[in-house]
Amino acid sequence: MRDLKVAVIGAGPGGLVTALCLHRLGIECHVFEAAHQIRPLGVGLNLLPHAIRELTILGLDAKLAAAGVATAELAYHNKFGVPIWCEPRGLAAGYSWPQYSIHRGSFQMLLLEEAIARCGADHVHVGHPLQSFTQDTDGVVAHFAGQPDHRTDVLIAADGIHSVVRRHYYPHEAQPAYSGRVLWRGTTEAPPFLSGRSMIMAGYADRKFVAYPIREAAPENGRALINWVGDVYVGGDVPMVRDWNRRTDVATVLHHFQDWHFPWLDVPSLIQNAGDIYEYPLVDRDPVPHWAFDRVALLGDAAHPMYPVGSNGASQAILDAAAVSAALAQHSDPVAALKAYEDERLEKTAKIVLSNRQQGPEIVMQMVEDRAPNGFEKLHDVISQAELEEVASRYKAIAGFDRDRLNAKS
Ligand SMILES: Cc1cc2nc3c(=O)[nH]c(=O)nc-3n(C[C@H](O)[C@H](O)[C@H](O)COP(=O)(O)OP(=O)(O)OC[C@H]3O[C@@H](n4cnc5c(N)ncnc54)[C@H](O)[C@@H]3O)c2cc1C
Repeated sequence: MRDLKVAVIGAGPGGLVTALCLHRLGIECHVFEAAHQIRPLGVGLNLLPHAIRELTILGLDAKLAAAGVATAELAYHNKFGVPIWCEPRGLAAGYSWPQYSIHRGSFQMLLLEEAIARCGADHVHVGHPLQSFTQDTDGVVAHFAGQPDHRTDVLIAADGIHSVVRRHYYPHEAQPAYSGRVLWRGTTEAPPFLSGRSMIMAGYADRKFVAYPIREAAPENGRALINWVGDVYVGGDVPMVRDWNRRTDVATVLHHFQDWHFPWLDVPSLIQNAGDIYEYPLVDRDPVPHWAFDRVALLGDAAHPMYPVGSNGASQAILDAAAVSAALAQHSDPVAALKAYEDERLEKTAKIVLSNRQQGPEIVMQMVEDRAPNGFEKLHDVISQAELEEVASRYKAIAGFDRDRLNAKS
């Protein structure tokens, strides 16, 4: 074991994967989470093949396969449910690793169990909200509300979009920028649609519906658990609470999708039969010039909160976790290690943040809406195959999951 101690702030996906990566490389790590109890919060998220590669290295492949659904295709449709683009994903697309759709809560609990089992229960501390910290040339002292201080060699801040550590270094940064668009998120037990492992998007930038299964059809009733997101522009002046757990009701969402009865998916019925529905504004932050500040570094949503376009939020946090851990294992000087981590990851993720503001690969839905708002007879009269392919492959290259390059890493 390397004689280096790391404190990770936040037990979300980013913080917990960092703890597991550090443990694998023989670096001692303590995780500090503000919540008194870690509960399976959130709804669905997607993990792309490059992130699954890192989780496979951690030996989590079988558990992920049991907890999630291996997504087989991604399909875009117009607002009438007519196909625009469909591509295979994960193993079906020839990647060496699958893509998983999974409940964020199940994923977080899976990581938590592993972190406790591998790092030790006495290394995962709940009820520890970081308030402030100080650092000198020898280390960092973390100060928690109502808990003793903790001295460590390195502090990794994985404390999410409202990061205390980021605020320390960027005290004048405004609230996360609100796009005028709201995400209503829910899950519904319903029959599987299309391939049974399809992730679909329908509509266009200002009114979009996303759905994908996060649990396969149960043999007893044939119903899968479908995660869905209604993404609607409601205007820039509405003050929006930036709380992942804020609830809303069916009526708020339903009238935006009232007529979306597709032959292969009944959107109104999915919304009406949902469990809890959550409201979250579509927000991100401008990329910052630095994440590494001597012995302190930002990671995951604390470093690069982005629109959840192209399934990248959690996946990029996992790539950060692998990168920072590898850098700490390689460099004897922790300051140089964190700088190397920043050099490897900051520019790449900044490009994704900015590309997601331009709708990432989903822009083809807007192109079709602009050119054929009343629908179309033949897709290729509206958009060429070459345009569709160009958009898809450009985004994969930006987000780092170009298949051949990724497979070459195995
Ligand atoms: C409750 C919740 C629900 C979410 N639901 C979804 C969802 O349904 N779909 C989706 O795509 N994304 C969701 N996200 C965001 C998603 O988890 C992230 O975009 C992505 O996984 C990157 O994770 P992260 O670990 O960097 O950040 P997060 O997942 O935000 O985790 C940050 C962690 O840090 C903790 N924390 C915050 N401040 C402090 C502090 N001062 N001291 C100690 N700990 C602190 C938080 O409690 C949290 O556990 C949710 C996030 C949260 C917090």
